[in-house]
Amino acid sequence: MATEIGVFVAWPYANGDLHLGHIAGAYLPADIFARYHRLRGNSVLMGSGSDAHGTPITLKAKDENAAPIDIVRRYHRRFLESFQALGITFDLFSHTHTPNHIATTQDFFRTLRGKGDLTIATQKQFYDEAAHMFLPDRYVGGTCPLCSYQRARGDQCENCGKTFGATELINPISLISNTVPALKDTDHYFFELGNYSAKLLQYIADKDYWRTHVQNFTRSMIDEGLRGRPITRDIDWGVPVPEPGWESKVIYVWFDAVIGYFSVSKEWAVHSGDAEAWKRWWKNPRARSYYFIGKDNIPFHSVIWPIELMAYDAELNLPYDVPANQFLNISGEKLSTSRGLAVWLLDMLKEYDADAVRYYVTSILPETKDSNFYWDEFVTRNNGELVAAWGNLVNRVFGFAYPRYGAKVPEPQELDGRDRDLLSKIEAAFPVVAQAYETVRLRDALRDSMALAREVNRYLDEKAPWTVFKRDPAQAGTAIFVAMRAIDSLKILLAPVLPHTCEKINQMLGTEEPLFGTQCIIERPENGEVSEVLIYQPAVSEKAGIDRFKPSELAPGKPFAKPAPLFKVLELEAKP
Ligand SMILES: [Zn+2]
Repeated sequence: MATEIGVFVAWPYANGDLHLGHIAGAYLPADIFARYHRLRGNSVLMGSGSDAHGTPITLKAKDENAAPIDIVRRYHRRFLESFQALGITFDLFSHTHTPNHIATTQDFFRTLRGKGDLTIATQKQFYDEAAHMFLPDRYVGGTCPLCSYQRARGDQCENCGKTFGATELINPISLISNTVPALKDTDHYFFELGNYSAKLLQYIADKDYWRTHVQNFTRSMIDEGLRGRPITRDIDWGVPVPEPGWESKVIYVWFDAVIGYFSVSKEWAVHSGDAEAWKRWWKNPRARSYYFIGKDNIPFHSVIWPIELMAYDAELNLPYDVPANQFLNISGEKLSTSRGLAVWLLDMLKEYDADAVRYYVTSILPETKDSNFYWDEFVTRNNGELVAAWGNLVNRVFGFAYPRYGAKVPEPQELDGRDRDLLSKIEAAFPVVAQAYETVRLRDALRDSMALAREVNRYLDEKAPWTVFKRDPAQAGTAIFVAMRAIDSLKILLAPVLPHTCEKINQMLGTEEPLFGTQCIIERPENGEVSEVLIYQPAVSEKAGIDRFKPSELAPGKPFAKPAPLFKVLELEAKP
């Protein structure tokens, strides 16, 4: 039965380009998952956007002597191009500086305040005497109080992933003036997370299907006790606090960014022509929402966002799953943009086809533990697996048949045991691969599908239609027919991972309807200063709720087009 699937993806800070760590952590797995459900005929709403606020933006603007909005506009545009090039099918990729998002965030603020979940407290905060300003957490550096990592920032340690307040740092230093900051009093609103401890425990009680590291992180955060957390900051870039007398402060970005999942759904609904359409994913007991994030984001999605939702409107759907990924390392080293240890997505897509990148990254997704990207492995696996086992299979079967069977699927003779065995193996794989996609074990889905491609190659080696053809074209035609059906099925199994090339196979087979819809960058003038967004137009079958994740029923006699190579053989030197 078709159902509503929300696919929500971490909001990237618009202060730098996307690298493979981002792609492996959240965007590619989210897209594979979304495309699987699109093929199933489920109603997918995949949403995210640029995080336009917060100190990552203001720090970058300060470095460049630019306005924050200019930084946002530049990187937001590059995100749109990156996602379109890699084929990340956001129904809407917007940003957090839209009037809609600002109004929605302020509505959360007012509602929570009205319910007594926000309190005002005086806090000691670092003040930079040289720069005459309060220092937001990220403007303070120092040593992590929990793991002694020396380059921790005042909000979170990127080494151990724990969050804390800047005043807990050992040897604090202002990142503005490099002086030792002083502590001064300042008033802030605090969100009393502890008011929802019991409800949160109830919510996670049945989440034993979550990834182990997500469950463990969540439980340890609850065990440590949920405390009030400041939701306002002394900076001038962000969502204004909707309170008289609070004009010099804004709503803190941790509170505002996650609200983006909700506000982008509303923006999508308005754009779709039915302003209430968001309710199908948010106020519908049948709908399920999945949040694709990196492990450093777990506390905000398994604890803080559910509490914000509970506090705002008890009828809203809470996250069904938070399949957070671990980290992707580069050649055995921790990815670091400051040390130049990163592979930039746009650079990589200038050199390589999107599906080649998607294939290798999917095969090494850090689903349960950190994993490694190696350039030589990218090349060898592209050539040895994608080209040799899958691309060549498609080309030699269709390339052989094209001139010999009049560019039509050959008529089979009666199938023998080996023929039926291959086709039933593939049929039996559908529920297994479907289960892997549904439970976000995407590496397993790819591995099982590629094992079948090798199985088809073995079948063809045994049947040798290329030599049998000379004495018995009809018998060879049976093997070709069976292989074509197998390929047509594999096209569906692999399409979530390799959408561009599977679409080419689909076209070669003369299928009237594309597997997936189309993406484009459009302007939404109502979004204000940064009006461009990325949208997805679903395919007709997707809109109609038709389940296409099924074994092939390719018919004999069906015409097909001349095949062209799907993938390129790569050379190791070609890396950017
Ligand atoms: Zn640490």
